[in-house]
Amino acid sequence: MSNGLVYVNFGRVIVDCPSGCGNAFMVPMGATSLECEGDAGCAAVFPLSIPSNLSEILTELNKRPNRANRNWYPEGHPVAIKAAIPMNQSVTDLVQEREWHEAEEVV
Ligand SMILES: [Zn+2]
Repeated sequence: MSNGLVYVNFGRVIVDCPSGCGNAFMVPMGATSLECEGDAGCAAVFPLSIPSNLSEILTELNKRPNRANRNWYPEGHPVAIKAAIPMNQSVTDLVQEREWHEAEEVV
């Protein structure tokens, strides 16, 4: 079983089941692996790939007033590839992005 690539969507820490069954889960604080459980679960147990600076990423994203803009994807995440959105952004990248948005709002 491949790793579950943890990402941030609307400020929530999420992982999609890597088996491709279509399930997604909120990642509990401190978890290192998850089981795809529940009625629609495929019962796969998979390790989580969590960015080492996740808490810093979340702290920065939470400064964005609009929850819809609180997003972060790791390198190689299928959703980010499909949508052609940035992957593996550093906290510096996120700060810069927020400052651009703030500048736009002033105009
Ligand atoms: Zn599954």
